[in-house]
Amino acid sequence: MGETRKPATIVAAAHVARDPGFRGVVPPVVVSDTYQWEDSDTKPDYDYSRTVSPNRDLVIDALAALEGAAGGVVTGSGQSAALLALLILPAGAHVVAPHDCYGGTYRLIKGLEDQGKLRASFVDMADPAALADVLDGGADLLWIETPSNPLLRVTDIARVAAAGRSAGALVCADNTLATPLRQRPLALGCDLVMHSTTKALNGHSDLFGGALLAGDPALVEQLQWWSNAAGLNASAQDSAQLLRGLRTLNLRLDRQEASARRVAEWLAAHPKVQGVNYPGLADHPGHEVAAAQQDGPGFMISFRVRGDAPAFLAALELVTLASSLGSFATLICKPATMTHRGMPPEAQAEAGIAPDLLRLSVGLEDADDLIADLERGFSRL
Ligand SMILES: *Cc1c(COP(=O)(O)O)cnc(C)c1O
Repeated sequence: MGETRKPATIVAAAHVARDPGFRGVVPPVVVSDTYQWEDSDTKPDYDYSRTVSPNRDLVIDALAALEGAAGGVVTGSGQSAALLALLILPAGAHVVAPHDCYGGTYRLIKGLEDQGKLRASFVDMADPAALADVLDGGADLLWIETPSNPLLRVTDIARVAAAGRSAGALVCADNTLATPLRQRPLALGCDLVMHSTTKALNGHSDLFGGALLAGDPALVEQLQWWSNAAGLNASAQDSAQLLRGLRTLNLRLDRQEASARRVAEWLAAHPKVQGVNYPGLADHPGHEVAAAQQDGPGFMISFRVRGDAPAFLAALELVTLASSLGSFATLICKPATMTHRGMPPEAQAEAGIAPDLLRLSVGLEDADDLIADLERGFSRL
């Protein structure tokens, strides 16, 4: 029933007034870690909370409906969701990932490669010849992240997923930046879709979480098996809080995206800015692919200032210097020394992350006030 509803309805109405115990409008938080058995030989649906939890199931249900997935798991962080995608691979697997992927994803894949657990190829996804080259000998997992963080590079999901699948790889898309309200990777040919729910899905900067969902029920079972085996599943409280955050996702995204468009256009015309990355700008590389595969350009912008970036940052009063993104609050960071410090300087240079690049996650404040604050920064240059 939920599957046929529009995304705005799914997030607002998920499990409202479905409490069979007390008829609460909001589902109760079931904090028990263990459950009573009717008899010793009949395993109840819910037996132990590391394995199954009613609150986790409610939020998985909502996320699966949004992504068009058969199911999946909700984990304690985005990183544990990424780890889970690697745990289901055979020993010595070949993992192909974008050379400009999220710093934590890079650190995880590289760390496992350094231990000899897998073989990694980091490649420019915008270069079809380079991708074909690394996929040539076969691959087990192809990782897509689009728009990428922090450069907002756009990968053509349908094209890259098809290339990965013909090389025998499972294809996983990190959909954290776009969210399922703007982009649905499973419908474009991916096997798995991953989220850091810490970001826009929760949206309130007060939770750590992740999700990994799949279109194929057999793959969902593998995810559940390994998430339980490795103890990666999220707590009941975090799951309930995530469902609460999710309810306003539609409203938050509309507002954040509208402000981001205005701020990006304003930055692009600013004399003290050199280069703005935002998929909604007509001169952004991949602008057309983004317009075709996304339902909106999103709330993330990155740019370089002409002058001393730290002086610009120090002058800001409304915009907060902090890592993370997708929050109600507008956050700015310098990826080279903050979010992407897990990536060595050579790898950053190769990925095109300049030492002074700034990344802006536009929140819910009035766009006029945001622009006035950024102008305060530029006035110091
Ligand atoms: C934050 C983030 C992650 C990691 O998620 P955590 O919740 O911090 O573990 C992965 N991918 C992207 C794109 C992110 O922004």
